[in-house]
Amino acid sequence: MKIMIIGCGGVAQVAIKKCCQADDVFTEILIASRTKSKCDRVAEEMKNKTKAKISTAQVNADNVEELAALINSFKPAAVLNVALPYQDLTVMDACLKTGVHYIDTANYECENTEDPKWRKIYEKRVKEKGFTAYFDYSWQWAYHQKFKEAGLCALLGTGFDPGVTQVFCAYAQKHYFDEIETIDILDCNGGDHGYAFATNFNPEINLREVSANGSYWENGKWIETKPLEIKREYNFDGVGKKDMYLLHHEEIESLAKNIKGVKRIRFFMTFGQSYIQHMNCLQNVGMLSTTPVTFEGREIVPIQFLKALLPDPATLGARTKGKTNIGCIFTGYKNGVKKSIYIYNICDHEACYREVGSQAISYTTGVPAMIGAMLVVTGVWNKPGVYNAEEFDPDPYMEALNRYGLPWKVEEDPVLVD
Ligand code: NDP
Repeated sequence: MKIMIIGCGGVAQVAIKKCCQADDVFTEILIASRTKSKCDRVAEEMKNKTKAKISTAQVNADNVEELAALINSFKPAAVLNVALPYQDLTVMDACLKTGVHYIDTANYECENTEDPKWRKIYEKRVKEKGFTAYFDYSWQWAYHQKFKEAGLCALLGTGFDPGVTQVFCAYAQKHYFDEIETIDILDCNGGDHGYAFATNFNPEINLREVSANGSYWENGKWIETKPLEIKREYNFDGVGKKDMYLLHHEEIESLAKNIKGVKRIRFFMTFGQSYIQHMNCLQNVGMLSTTPVTFEGREIVPIQFLKALLPDPATLGARTKGKTNIGCIFTGYKNGVKKSIYIYNICDHEACYREVGSQAISYTTGVPAMIGAMLVVTGVWNKPGVYNAEEFDPDPYMEALNRYGLPWKVEEDPVLVD
Protein backbone atom coordinates (compact mmCIF):
# COMPACT_ATOMS: atom_id res chain seq x y z
CA MET A 1 0.00 0.00 0.00
CA LYS A 2 1.18 3.51 -0.74
CA ILE A 3 0.70 6.22 1.88
CA MET A 4 1.26 9.95 1.56
CA ILE A 5 2.13 11.64 4.85
CA ILE A 6 1.69 15.41 5.05
CA GLY A 7 3.83 17.28 7.59
CA CYS A 8 7.24 16.42 8.98
CA GLY A 9 7.13 17.77 12.54
CA GLY A 10 7.27 15.97 15.89
CA VAL A 11 4.20 13.79 15.38
CA ALA A 12 4.78 13.12 11.68
CA GLN A 13 8.32 11.90 12.28
CA VAL A 14 7.04 9.20 14.65
CA ALA A 15 4.19 8.26 12.28
CA ILE A 16 6.69 7.95 9.40
CA LYS A 17 9.06 5.75 11.43
CA LYS A 18 6.18 3.55 12.61
CA CYS A 19 4.93 3.18 9.01
CA CYS A 20 8.49 2.13 8.14
CA GLN A 21 8.29 -0.54 10.87
CA ALA A 22 4.99 -1.75 9.38
CA ASP A 23 6.55 -2.13 5.94
CA ASP A 24 4.53 -5.29 5.29
CA VAL A 25 1.56 -2.88 4.94
CA PHE A 26 3.18 0.39 3.85
CA THR A 27 5.37 -0.53 0.92
CA GLU A 28 5.79 3.05 -0.36
CA ILE A 29 5.76 6.27 1.66
CA LEU A 30 5.75 9.81 0.30
CA ILE A 31 6.67 12.42 2.93
CA ALA A 32 5.40 15.83 1.81
CA SER A 33 5.71 18.99 3.85
CA ARG A 34 6.35 22.71 3.70
CA THR A 35 10.08 22.32 4.33
CA LYS A 36 11.41 19.53 2.10
CA SER A 37 14.81 19.37 3.83
CA LYS A 38 13.10 18.04 6.97
CA CYS A 39 11.48 15.26 4.91
CA ASP A 40 14.82 14.44 3.28
CA ARG A 41 16.49 14.16 6.69
CA VAL A 42 13.93 11.63 7.93
CA ALA A 43 14.07 9.69 4.63
CA GLU A 44 17.87 9.53 4.95
CA GLU A 45 17.61 8.36 8.58
CA MET A 46 15.28 5.52 7.59
CA LYS A 47 17.45 4.33 4.68
CA ASN A 48 18.39 0.66 5.18
CA LYS A 49 16.07 0.44 8.21
CA THR A 50 12.93 -0.45 6.26
CA LYS A 51 11.80 -2.28 3.14
CA ALA A 52 9.40 0.61 2.40
CA LYS A 53 10.41 2.84 -0.49
CA ILE A 54 10.50 6.46 0.71
CA SER A 55 10.27 9.58 -1.43
CA THR A 56 9.87 13.22 -0.43
CA ALA A 57 8.23 16.36 -1.81
CA GLN A 58 7.61 19.97 -0.98
CA VAL A 59 3.95 20.91 -0.70
CA ASN A 60 1.87 23.79 0.54
CA ALA A 61 -1.04 21.97 2.19
CA ASP A 62 -3.13 25.15 2.18
CA ASN A 63 -3.36 24.82 -1.59
CA VAL A 64 -5.86 22.19 -2.85
CA GLU A 65 -4.60 22.21 -6.46
CA GLU A 66 -0.99 21.67 -5.37
CA LEU A 67 -2.02 18.83 -3.06
CA ALA A 68 -4.22 17.21 -5.72
CA ALA A 69 -1.41 17.30 -8.30
CA LEU A 70 0.95 15.61 -5.85
CA ILE A 71 -1.63 12.98 -4.87
CA ASN A 72 -2.33 12.27 -8.55
CA SER A 73 1.34 11.82 -9.32
CA PHE A 74 1.95 9.46 -6.35
CA LYS A 75 -1.45 7.69 -6.30
CA PRO A 76 -1.53 6.69 -2.61
CA ALA A 77 -4.25 4.56 -1.03
CA ALA A 78 -4.66 7.25 1.63
CA VAL A 79 -3.34 10.57 2.85
CA LEU A 80 -2.29 10.86 6.50
CA ASN A 81 -2.50 14.53 7.46
CA VAL A 82 -0.14 15.26 10.36
CA ALA A 83 0.52 18.87 9.43
CA LEU A 84 -1.61 21.33 11.41
CA PRO A 85 -5.38 21.50 12.01
CA TYR A 86 -5.44 24.59 9.76
CA GLN A 87 -4.90 22.32 6.76
CA ASP A 88 -7.63 19.73 7.48
CA LEU A 89 -10.21 21.11 5.06
CA THR A 90 -7.85 21.71 2.15
CA VAL A 91 -6.43 18.20 2.51
CA MET A 92 -9.96 16.73 2.68
CA ASP A 93 -10.88 18.67 -0.47
CA ALA A 94 -7.80 17.33 -2.24
CA CYS A 95 -8.65 13.76 -1.18
CA LEU A 96 -12.16 14.14 -2.58
CA LYS A 97 -10.79 15.56 -5.79
CA THR A 98 -8.39 12.67 -6.28
CA GLY A 99 -10.40 9.80 -4.77
CA VAL A 100 -8.22 8.76 -1.81
CA HIS A 101 -9.00 8.08 1.84
CA TYR A 102 -8.19 10.70 4.52
CA ILE A 103 -6.81 10.35 8.07
CA ASP A 104 -5.83 13.03 10.62
CA THR A 105 -5.08 13.55 14.33
CA ALA A 106 -6.71 16.89 15.19
CA ASN A 107 -9.92 18.66 14.19
CA TYR A 108 -10.13 21.70 11.97
CA GLU A 109 -9.22 25.06 13.43
CA CYS A 110 -9.12 28.36 11.54
CA GLU A 111 -5.66 29.92 11.52
CA ASN A 112 -6.88 33.51 11.50
CA THR A 113 -9.79 33.76 13.90
CA GLU A 114 -10.36 37.38 12.85
CA ASP A 115 -11.20 36.33 9.26
CA PRO A 116 -14.71 37.89 8.84
CA LYS A 117 -16.02 35.09 6.59
CA TRP A 118 -15.03 32.39 9.09
CA ARG A 119 -16.08 34.51 12.08
CA LYS A 120 -19.66 34.85 10.81
CA ILE A 121 -20.12 31.07 10.63
CA TYR A 122 -18.29 30.57 13.95
CA GLU A 123 -20.52 33.04 15.80
CA LYS A 124 -23.65 31.37 14.48
CA ARG A 125 -22.32 27.94 15.48
CA VAL A 126 -21.34 29.08 18.98
CA LYS A 127 -24.98 29.94 19.64
CA GLU A 128 -26.12 26.53 18.37
CA LYS A 129 -23.42 24.53 20.13
CA GLY A 130 -22.95 26.19 23.48
CA PHE A 131 -19.15 26.27 23.67
CA THR A 132 -16.76 28.93 22.43
CA ALA A 133 -13.63 26.93 21.50
CA TYR A 134 -12.26 27.83 18.08
CA PHE A 135 -11.92 24.17 17.15
CA ASP A 136 -14.89 21.88 16.64
CA TYR A 137 -15.96 18.97 14.46
CA SER A 138 -18.80 20.65 12.59
CA TRP A 139 -16.52 21.79 9.75
CA GLN A 140 -15.29 18.28 9.03
CA TRP A 141 -18.55 16.46 9.78
CA ALA A 142 -20.09 18.65 7.07
CA TYR A 143 -18.04 16.58 4.56
CA HIS A 144 -19.80 13.31 5.50
CA GLN A 145 -22.16 13.17 2.52
CA LYS A 146 -19.43 14.08 0.04
CA PHE A 147 -17.11 11.33 1.30
CA LYS A 148 -19.99 8.86 1.39
CA GLU A 149 -21.00 9.58 -2.19
CA ALA A 150 -17.37 9.30 -3.31
CA GLY A 151 -17.06 5.91 -1.54
CA LEU A 152 -14.17 7.28 0.53
CA CYS A 153 -13.42 7.06 4.23
CA ALA A 154 -12.24 9.97 6.37
CA LEU A 155 -11.03 8.89 9.80
CA LEU A 156 -10.82 11.93 12.08
CA GLY A 157 -8.59 12.36 15.09
CA THR A 158 -6.51 9.20 15.39
CA GLY A 159 -3.87 10.48 17.80
CA PHE A 160 -3.99 9.64 21.52
CA ASP A 161 -6.48 12.24 22.65
CA PRO A 162 -8.42 12.52 20.43
CA GLY A 163 -8.00 9.02 19.09
CA VAL A 164 -7.02 6.24 21.47
CA THR A 165 -9.21 7.73 24.22
CA GLN A 166 -12.26 7.24 21.96
CA VAL A 167 -11.17 3.70 21.12
CA PHE A 168 -10.97 3.07 24.89
CA CYS A 169 -14.56 4.34 25.12
CA ALA A 170 -15.75 2.03 22.35
CA TYR A 171 -13.87 -0.87 24.01
CA ALA A 172 -15.41 -0.15 27.42
CA GLN A 173 -18.84 0.06 25.79
CA LYS A 174 -18.34 -3.22 23.89
CA HIS A 175 -16.78 -5.35 26.65
CA TYR A 176 -17.54 -3.83 30.07
CA PHE A 177 -20.82 -1.88 30.17
CA ASP A 178 -24.45 -2.04 29.13
CA GLU A 179 -24.61 1.67 29.83
CA ILE A 180 -21.78 4.15 30.38
CA GLU A 181 -22.84 6.98 32.67
CA THR A 182 -19.68 9.07 33.01
CA ILE A 183 -16.34 9.36 31.24
CA ASP A 184 -13.33 11.23 32.63
CA ILE A 185 -10.42 11.48 30.21
CA LEU A 186 -7.16 12.05 32.09
CA ASP A 187 -4.06 13.20 30.21
CA CYS A 188 -1.00 13.23 32.44
CA ASN A 189 2.46 14.14 31.28
CA GLY A 190 4.94 13.49 34.08
CA GLY A 191 7.88 14.28 31.79
CA ASP A 192 10.53 16.91 32.44
CA HIS A 193 12.52 18.45 29.56
CA GLY A 194 14.54 20.78 31.74
CA TYR A 195 13.51 24.00 29.96
CA ALA A 196 11.77 26.78 31.88
CA PHE A 197 9.00 26.65 29.28
CA ALA A 198 8.31 24.51 26.21
CA THR A 199 5.28 22.76 24.76
CA ASN A 200 5.25 19.08 23.84
CA PHE A 201 3.52 19.56 20.53
CA ASN A 202 3.06 22.49 18.18
CA PRO A 203 3.17 25.54 20.54
CA GLU A 204 0.55 27.49 18.65
CA ILE A 205 -2.06 24.72 18.75
CA ASN A 206 -1.14 23.73 22.31
CA LEU A 207 -1.35 27.24 23.79
CA ARG A 208 -4.56 28.07 21.95
CA GLU A 209 -6.11 24.92 23.44
CA VAL A 210 -4.95 25.45 27.02
CA SER A 211 -5.68 29.17 27.23
CA ALA A 212 -9.25 28.74 25.91
CA ASN A 213 -12.35 28.42 28.09
CA GLY A 214 -12.81 24.94 29.53
CA SER A 215 -16.04 23.02 29.08
CA TYR A 216 -17.64 19.67 29.79
CA TRP A 217 -20.75 17.81 28.74
CA GLU A 218 -23.43 17.11 31.34
CA ASN A 219 -27.05 15.98 31.01
CA GLY A 220 -27.27 16.85 27.34
CA LYS A 221 -25.61 20.24 27.38
CA TRP A 222 -22.25 21.99 27.52
CA ILE A 223 -21.11 23.72 30.69
CA GLU A 224 -18.40 26.26 30.02
CA THR A 225 -15.78 27.34 32.55
CA LYS A 226 -13.09 29.98 32.61
CA PRO A 227 -9.65 28.78 31.44
CA LEU A 228 -8.17 26.35 34.01
CA GLU A 229 -10.96 27.18 36.50
CA ILE A 230 -11.53 23.57 37.60
CA LYS A 231 -8.55 21.87 39.22
CA ARG A 232 -8.22 18.37 40.70
CA GLU A 233 -5.36 16.26 42.00
CA TYR A 234 -4.89 12.66 40.91
CA ASN A 235 -2.36 9.96 41.78
CA PHE A 236 -1.29 8.52 38.41
CA ASP A 237 0.13 5.01 38.10
CA GLY A 238 3.77 5.28 37.02
CA VAL A 239 3.90 9.04 37.57
CA GLY A 240 2.56 9.95 41.03
CA LYS A 241 0.39 12.84 42.25
CA LYS A 242 -0.25 15.67 39.78
CA ASP A 243 -2.51 18.69 39.54
CA MET A 244 -4.83 18.50 36.55
CA TYR A 245 -7.17 21.05 35.00
CA LEU A 246 -10.42 20.72 33.10
CA LEU A 247 -10.11 21.69 29.42
CA HIS A 248 -12.45 21.76 26.47
CA HIS A 249 -11.35 18.90 24.23
CA GLU A 250 -12.57 17.83 20.85
CA GLU A 251 -13.37 14.17 21.55
CA ILE A 252 -16.00 15.22 24.11
CA GLU A 253 -18.03 16.52 21.18
CA SER A 254 -18.04 13.27 19.24
CA LEU A 255 -18.37 11.01 22.30
CA ALA A 256 -21.45 12.97 23.42
CA LYS A 257 -22.95 12.10 20.03
CA ASN A 258 -21.79 8.48 19.78
CA ILE A 259 -21.85 7.02 23.31
CA LYS A 260 -25.58 6.68 23.79
CA GLY A 261 -26.95 7.59 27.19
CA VAL A 262 -23.72 9.06 28.58
CA LYS A 263 -24.51 11.67 31.22
CA ARG A 264 -21.19 13.42 31.76
CA ILE A 265 -17.88 13.67 29.88
CA ARG A 266 -14.92 15.66 31.18
CA PHE A 267 -11.32 16.06 30.05
CA PHE A 268 -8.43 16.85 32.41
CA MET A 269 -4.80 17.61 31.59
CA THR A 270 -1.91 17.93 34.04
CA PHE A 271 0.17 21.12 34.17
CA GLY A 272 2.86 22.29 36.55
CA GLN A 273 2.76 25.73 38.16
CA SER A 274 5.66 26.95 36.02
CA TYR A 275 3.82 26.13 32.75
CA ILE A 276 0.72 27.97 33.96
CA GLN A 277 2.66 31.01 35.15
CA HIS A 278 4.49 31.30 31.83
CA MET A 279 1.28 30.85 29.86
CA ASN A 280 -0.62 33.45 31.90
CA CYS A 281 2.20 35.94 31.54
CA LEU A 282 2.40 35.40 27.76
CA GLN A 283 -1.39 35.72 27.55
CA ASN A 284 -1.39 38.94 29.60
CA VAL A 285 1.16 40.61 27.35
CA GLY A 286 -0.65 39.57 24.17
CA MET A 287 1.86 36.97 22.95
CA LEU A 288 -0.86 34.31 22.48
CA SER A 289 -2.85 36.48 20.09
CA THR A 290 -3.55 35.22 16.56
CA THR A 291 -4.36 38.72 15.33
CA PRO A 292 -1.54 40.16 13.19
CA VAL A 293 0.22 43.29 14.51
CA THR A 294 2.50 45.62 12.58
CA PHE A 295 6.05 45.66 13.94
CA GLU A 296 8.61 47.93 12.29
CA GLY A 297 6.63 47.96 9.06
CA ARG A 298 6.10 44.17 8.96
CA GLU A 299 3.00 42.21 9.90
CA ILE A 300 3.60 39.49 12.47
CA VAL A 301 1.25 37.14 14.32
CA PRO A 302 2.33 37.20 18.00
CA ILE A 303 1.74 33.49 18.68
CA GLN A 304 3.68 32.54 15.53
CA PHE A 305 6.57 34.73 16.63
CA LEU A 306 6.46 33.05 20.04
CA LYS A 307 6.58 29.64 18.30
CA ALA A 308 9.81 30.71 16.58
CA LEU A 309 11.36 31.48 19.99
CA LEU A 310 10.28 28.33 21.82
CA PRO A 311 12.09 24.98 21.57
CA ASP A 312 10.84 22.84 18.67
CA PRO A 313 8.86 19.98 20.29
CA ALA A 314 10.51 17.58 17.83
CA THR A 315 13.87 18.28 19.53
CA LEU A 316 12.75 17.64 23.13
CA GLY A 317 13.21 13.86 22.98
CA ALA A 318 16.89 13.78 23.91
CA ARG A 319 16.31 15.71 27.16
CA THR A 320 12.89 14.53 28.38
CA LYS A 321 12.70 12.12 31.29
CA GLY A 322 9.66 10.62 33.00
CA LYS A 323 6.41 9.05 31.86
CA THR A 324 2.99 9.88 30.48
CA ASN A 325 -0.21 8.24 31.65
CA ILE A 326 -3.27 8.84 29.45
CA GLY A 327 -6.59 7.09 29.76
CA CYS A 328 -10.28 7.12 30.61
CA ILE A 329 -12.21 6.39 33.80
CA PHE A 330 -15.70 5.02 33.16
CA THR A 331 -18.64 4.55 35.48
CA GLY A 332 -21.86 2.84 34.47
CA TYR A 333 -23.88 -0.37 34.67
CA LYS A 334 -23.40 -3.99 33.64
CA ASN A 335 -26.28 -6.42 34.23
CA GLY A 336 -27.86 -3.84 36.53
CA VAL A 337 -24.76 -3.57 38.73
CA LYS A 338 -22.92 -0.25 39.08
CA LYS A 339 -19.24 -0.49 38.20
CA SER A 340 -16.20 1.56 37.25
CA ILE A 341 -13.04 0.87 35.27
CA TYR A 342 -9.95 2.81 34.17
CA ILE A 343 -8.25 2.03 30.85
CA TYR A 344 -4.89 3.69 30.38
CA ASN A 345 -1.45 3.56 28.80
CA ILE A 346 1.83 4.49 30.45
CA CYS A 347 4.56 5.64 28.08
CA ASP A 348 8.19 6.34 28.94
CA HIS A 349 9.81 9.39 27.31
CA GLU A 350 13.30 7.90 27.33
CA ALA A 351 12.14 4.56 25.87
CA CYS A 352 10.43 6.47 23.03
CA TYR A 353 13.63 8.38 22.38
CA ARG A 354 15.63 5.16 22.25
CA GLU A 355 13.17 3.66 19.76
CA VAL A 356 12.38 6.54 17.39
CA GLY A 357 14.31 9.61 18.62
CA SER A 358 11.18 11.40 19.95
CA GLN A 359 9.54 12.27 23.26
CA ALA A 360 6.40 10.47 24.42
CA ILE A 361 3.84 13.10 23.34
CA SER A 362 4.91 12.82 19.71
CA TYR A 363 5.13 9.04 20.16
CA THR A 364 1.69 8.60 21.73
CA THR A 365 0.23 10.60 18.81
CA GLY A 366 2.35 9.26 15.94
CA VAL A 367 1.80 5.58 16.76
CA PRO A 368 -2.05 5.83 16.72
CA ALA A 369 -1.81 7.92 13.54
CA MET A 370 0.00 5.03 11.86
CA ILE A 371 -2.45 2.48 13.34
CA GLY A 372 -5.46 4.46 12.08
CA ALA A 373 -3.92 4.74 8.62
CA MET A 374 -3.09 1.02 8.62
CA LEU A 375 -6.66 0.02 9.54
CA VAL A 376 -8.10 2.30 6.85
CA VAL A 377 -5.82 1.19 4.00
CA THR A 378 -6.19 -2.51 4.84
CA GLY A 379 -9.98 -2.12 4.89
CA VAL A 380 -10.35 -3.22 8.55
CA TRP A 381 -11.68 0.24 9.45
CA ASN A 382 -13.09 1.57 6.26
CA LYS A 383 -16.59 2.76 5.45
CA PRO A 384 -17.68 5.59 3.17
CA GLY A 385 -18.18 8.85 5.04
CA VAL A 386 -16.53 10.90 7.79
CA TYR A 387 -16.07 9.09 11.10
CA ASN A 388 -14.52 9.42 14.55
CA ALA A 389 -12.55 6.63 16.16
CA GLU A 390 -15.33 5.37 18.47
CA GLU A 391 -17.52 4.60 15.43
CA PHE A 392 -15.47 1.52 14.49
CA ASP A 393 -14.83 -1.88 16.12
CA PRO A 394 -12.22 -1.11 18.82
CA ASP A 395 -10.71 -4.62 19.02
CA PRO A 396 -8.26 -4.51 16.06
CA TYR A 397 -7.07 -1.06 17.15
CA MET A 398 -6.57 -2.20 20.76
CA GLU A 399 -4.54 -5.20 19.51
CA ALA A 400 -2.43 -2.91 17.32
CA LEU A 401 -1.71 -0.60 20.28
CA ASN A 402 -0.18 -3.56 22.13
CA ARG A 403 1.77 -4.61 19.05
CA TYR A 404 3.17 -1.19 18.10
CA GLY A 405 4.35 0.19 21.44
CA LEU A 406 1.37 1.53 23.41
CA PRO A 407 0.24 -1.33 25.67
CA TRP A 408 -2.78 -0.57 27.86
CA LYS A 409 -4.19 -1.78 31.15
CA VAL A 410 -7.69 -2.11 32.55
CA GLU A 411 -8.05 -1.37 36.27
CA GLU A 412 -11.31 -2.30 38.03
CA ASP A 413 -12.69 0.03 40.75
CA PRO A 414 -10.18 2.87 40.26
CA VAL A 415 -10.09 6.00 42.41
CA LEU A 416 -12.68 8.32 40.83
CA VAL A 417 -12.30 12.05 40.17
CA ASP A 418 -14.78 14.13 42.21
P1 NDP B 1 4.75 20.53 14.29
O1 NDP B 1 4.59 21.99 14.29
O2 NDP B 1 5.94 19.91 14.92
O3 NDP B 1 4.70 20.00 12.78
C1 NDP B 1 3.79 20.45 11.84
C2 NDP B 1 4.30 20.08 10.46
O4 NDP B 1 3.35 20.51 9.49
C3 NDP B 1 5.63 20.80 10.14
O5 NDP B 1 6.49 19.90 9.50
C4 NDP B 1 5.18 21.91 9.20
O6 NDP B 1 6.14 22.28 8.25
C5 NDP B 1 4.03 21.25 8.48
N1 NDP B 1 3.13 22.26 7.92
C6 NDP B 1 2.55 23.30 8.54
N2 NDP B 1 1.85 24.04 7.68
C7 NDP B 1 1.99 23.44 6.48
C8 NDP B 1 1.51 23.72 5.19
N3 NDP B 1 0.73 24.78 4.94
N4 NDP B 1 1.86 22.89 4.19
C9 NDP B 1 2.64 21.82 4.40
N5 NDP B 1 3.13 21.50 5.60
C10 NDP B 1 2.81 22.30 6.63
O7 NDP B 1 3.41 19.93 14.91
P2 NDP B 1 3.22 18.54 15.70
O8 NDP B 1 3.93 17.47 14.97
O9 NDP B 1 3.51 18.80 17.12
O10 NDP B 1 1.64 18.33 15.54
C11 NDP B 1 1.12 17.80 14.34
C12 NDP B 1 -0.39 17.59 14.48
O11 NDP B 1 -0.66 16.64 15.50
C13 NDP B 1 -1.15 18.86 14.87
O12 NDP B 1 -2.34 18.90 14.11
C14 NDP B 1 -1.49 18.64 16.32
O13 NDP B 1 -2.66 19.31 16.73
C15 NDP B 1 -1.71 17.13 16.32
N6 NDP B 1 -1.60 16.51 17.65
C16 NDP B 1 -2.58 15.63 18.02
C17 NDP B 1 -2.52 15.02 19.25
C18 NDP B 1 -3.51 13.96 19.59
O14 NDP B 1 -3.32 13.27 20.60
N7 NDP B 1 -4.56 13.75 18.84
C19 NDP B 1 -1.47 15.33 20.24
C20 NDP B 1 -0.43 16.21 19.71
C21 NDP B 1 -0.54 16.80 18.47
P3 NDP B 1 7.45 23.15 8.68
O15 NDP B 1 8.30 22.15 9.40
O16 NDP B 1 8.02 23.59 7.40
O17 NDP B 1 6.95 24.24 9.57
